[in-house]
Amino acid sequence: MTVDPLGTNDEFRTHVQAWLAEHVVGDYAELRGRGGPGDEDIGFDIRVAWEKELGAAGWIGLGWPESHGGRGASVAQQIIWAEEYTRAQAPARVNHMGENLLGPTLIEYGTAEQCARFLPSILDGNQRWCQGYSEPDAGSDLANVQTKAVLDGDEWVINGQKVWTSLAHVSHWCFVVVRTEVGSVRHKGLSFLLVAMDQPGVETRIIRQPTGGGEFNETFFTDARTDTSMMVGAPGEGWRVAMGLLGFERGISTLAQQVGFERELAAAMSLARAGASNEIPTVRQRLVRSYIGLQLMRWNALRSMSSGVPGPEASIGKLFWGTWHRDLGELMVDLQGATAMIGEAFPYELTLEQKLFLFTRSDTIYGGSNEIQRNVIGERVLGLPKEPS
Ligand SMILES: Cc1cc2nc3c(=O)[nH]c(=O)nc-3n(C[C@H](O)[C@H](O)[C@H](O)COP(=O)(O)OP(=O)(O)OC[C@H]3O[C@@H](n4cnc5c(N)ncnc54)[C@H](O)[C@@H]3O)c2cc1C
Repeated sequence: MTVDPLGTNDEFRTHVQAWLAEHVVGDYAELRGRGGPGDEDIGFDIRVAWEKELGAAGWIGLGWPESHGGRGASVAQQIIWAEEYTRAQAPARVNHMGENLLGPTLIEYGTAEQCARFLPSILDGNQRWCQGYSEPDAGSDLANVQTKAVLDGDEWVINGQKVWTSLAHVSHWCFVVVRTEVGSVRHKGLSFLLVAMDQPGVETRIIRQPTGGGEFNETFFTDARTDTSMMVGAPGEGWRVAMGLLGFERGISTLAQQVGFERELAAAMSLARAGASNEIPTVRQRLVRSYIGLQLMRWNALRSMSSGVPGPEASIGKLFWGTWHRDLGELMVDLQGATAMIGEAFPYELTLEQKLFLFTRSDTIYGGSNEIQRNVIGERVLGLPKEPS
C-alpha cells in the first residue's frame, strides 16, 4: 500500500487549518474576504507578499505532479485546501493565470526547458502571468486573431493589439495567441508564444470597469520580441494549445472559486435573515435555487475532474457557474431593496454587494460567453450539426 505524503484527508485538513490559523494574521488578516471579483485592486502588494508566503510553504501548485514541483494532491485534498482557505478568509490570490492556466498547460504541452524555466517561479509566487487571447475583432471568434509574429533570427517579432487582458499591468509574462503563418486564416497558422511584459515593445492601458476598478487592459505589441524557445507547441499548433488551456480555465481551476461562491451565498442568507427583503415573495425560492445550484456545481466539478485532462464538456460547468453567479449578484442587490441603489457616503465607494452585482455581469462573458459555451456543448459534446457560419 502506498502512503500519501500529505497524510489522510483528516490529517491534511488539520494541517491546513493550523497553517492558515498561524499565517492569516496581521496585514493578511486585515484583508479578510477582500480582493475577489470586482475588488481586485484592494491590498495588491500585501496579496503579492502573501503569494510568496504560500509558495515558500508549498501551497502553490498543490495538484501539480510532484515531478513538476507540485505536491501531487488528490482532488479531495485540493478541495479541502480550497474549503479551509475560504473558511480562514485568506486574501484573494494574485496569480490564477499562472498557477491554474499556464502551469497545467506547460506540463501538458510545453518542453522540459519551458517547464524548468517557468514552473519554479510560479510555484514560489514570484512570477505572475496574463492571458493574451482576445483582440478588438477576435473575442468569441478567437480564430480571427490578427496579432502577428514574424521570425527574425532566433526571435519572434510581435505586432498587434490584445484587449480585456486581465491583470496585464501587474504581470511579468503573457501567453499570447499570434498568427505566424503569412496569409493563413482561421485556426490554421496560429501559434502560442510566451512573451515578457517588461520590454519596450509592450504597452498596457487600464480599462476602467463599472465597479470602479481597473482589472483588465488594452495591451499593445509594437515590435515586441521573444525567443524562438518561447513557443509552446510547434509553429501553427497554437490553436490546439490555446484550446487545451481553455479546458483548464473552464474546468479544474474553478474549484477554489466555488468555495468563494459558498461564502457569498452565506452572505446572501445573512442579508435575507436580516429581513431587508421580506417584502419580496420569491426570495425563498431564489435562495434555495442558489443553494441547489452550488451543490450541482460541486458534483459536476468532481465528476469532470476525476476524468483527467478536461475536454469540451468543461463548457457545461462554465455555462452553469457563469449564470449561477450572475443570478447570485442580482439576488444580493434585490435582498437589499432600494438601498442597494445608493452609495453609502462620500467618496461613494461601492459596497461589496454592489461590486459583486456589477462584476458578475461579466461571468457570462469571460472565458467564453454563454452563447459560445452552448455552441461548444451542442457541436462538440452532443454532436449536433455545426452552426451556420
Ligand atoms: C472581466 C473580463 C475579463 C477578461 N479577461 C480576459 C483576459 O485576461 N484575456 C483575454 O484574452 N480575454 C479576456 N476577456 C475577454 C473575453 O474572453 C471576451 O470578452 C469574450 O470572449 C467575448 O468576446 P467579445 O467581448 O469580443 O464579444 P463578442 O465576441 O463581440 O460577442 C458579442 C456578443 O455576441 C455573442 N456571440 C458572438 N459570437 C456568437 C456566436 N457564434 N453564436 C451566438 N452568439 C455569439 C456573444 O455571446 C456576445 O453576447 C475578459 C472579459 C471580461 C468581461
